[in-house]
Amino acid sequence: MSITVDPTKCNGCGLCVKSCATSAIEVKDKLATIILESCNMCGACVSACRFAAISIDIDKQPVEDLDTYQGVWVFGEQRDGKVAPVVFELINIGRDLARARNTDLSVVILGDDLTEAVNDLASYPVDKIYVYEAPELAVYDAERYCRVLTDVMREAKPEIVLAGATTTGRSFMSGVAINLYTGLTADCTGLEIGEDGLLHQTRPAYGGNIMATILCPYTRPQMSTVRHKVFPTSAKRCALRQAQDAAEAEIIHLTPKPTLFGSRSKFIEFVETVGEKVNLVDADIIVSGGRGLGGPENFGIIRELADELGAAVGSSRAAVDAGWIPYAHQVGQTGKTVCPKIYIACGISGAVQHQVGMKSSDIIIAINKDANAPIFEIATHGFVGDLFEVVPALTKKIKAMRGAPVETCVV
Ligand code: FAD
Repeated sequence: MSITVDPTKCNGCGLCVKSCATSAIEVKDKLATIILESCNMCGACVSACRFAAISIDIDKQPVEDLDTYQGVWVFGEQRDGKVAPVVFELINIGRDLARARNTDLSVVILGDDLTEAVNDLASYPVDKIYVYEAPELAVYDAERYCRVLTDVMREAKPEIVLAGATTTGRSFMSGVAINLYTGLTADCTGLEIGEDGLLHQTRPAYGGNIMATILCPYTRPQMSTVRHKVFPTSAKRCALRQAQDAAEAEIIHLTPKPTLFGSRSKFIEFVETVGEKVNLVDADIIVSGGRGLGGPENFGIIRELADELGAAVGSSRAAVDAGWIPYAHQVGQTGKTVCPKIYIACGISGAVQHQVGMKSSDIIIAINKDANAPIFEIATHGFVGDLFEVVPALTKKIKAMRGAPVETCVV
């Protein structure tokens, strides 16, 4: 990919300089000059130039006619034959995108002994399931998976590819995008087909202060990763009435190519994260504590309320950074994205980076002594007050409502 300025058209007006977010353009002697080390080829200057003086040359890429790329694909991440929950969320949004593009929705699954996983996927409204089975793919290996998926996509040419922003998805989808000379938008929170027919990929940018909508107009496939719980899970096929969605999925077994299975890494053993009982991502209720707790010992009142509600314990980054609670509990941009039915934020101000990870919760209850805390802007219900009074009082009330002996409750 290269960018050039046509000196016969450029008059040095400087519109391109203003449009460039990476300060990659200077005007010297009435001619725009691109600083290639800073340029990320975003194309903003091309759109800004009124004299069509700047062009991005994509002819050097092995990109054929973009229209030859068809269909929406979801990467069917699995481990030990169990499909990752995010896949069913991607099927849901993928179905909408496929409908908007009037095309098929397919899932591609890599691994070994995938019968159970394929049957599970087939109960969801997908048109095709591409199954790539080989003993060498039984355990995830980034290099191998990257090579195999690249090869499959080169052949099948999907227009859109979605994967979970899981450890697996994050670690190899970028490699696939590089191999295919295309772009990848990580951690999308919104996906839709625009009037231009392109995939509009929205994600937080600049520390969550703005939502950026990113397009991939010049290359295919358009690739996105999406965090778990950002989109709802798809209904099963049997729950859908539309004929298109109710049709059986076509299952296509791909022929493995052993030449793709080389890898520089070796699988030794799989070790579960020790001491992490937290399942924040799947919890229906989360009680979270922040800096307002004042110290690690005070997480006790959060745990007590959580136990009473059958909830998981979350936290803000401030509490994690202070060493009050392990990172596994952190909610937010650099922690987990959660979408519980009820999220109770105790002594958390509601910084944008925290909100990014929890604002899709169905009901948000905020407890904060500062009535102007940003968390109240997104809260469904708010308690302005001291959490050391409100939280134990809530626990006590819930215990009483359950008929538990109130006098045993520590407040
Ligand atoms: P504070 O902002 O200090 O808020 C404490 C709140 O407690 C205040 O509103 C105060 O009024 C209230 N309070 C104090 N005492 C009481 C009391 N007795 N009763 C009731 N209320 C009380 N943050 C995250 O949470 N998750 C992330 O993933 C994350 N990622 C980040 C990524 C980047 C790149 C950056 C720059 C920041 C990130 N942050 C993240 C940090 C974020 O900006 C905030 O600093 C952090 O969320 C603040 O945590 P807090 O709300 O617990 O603390």
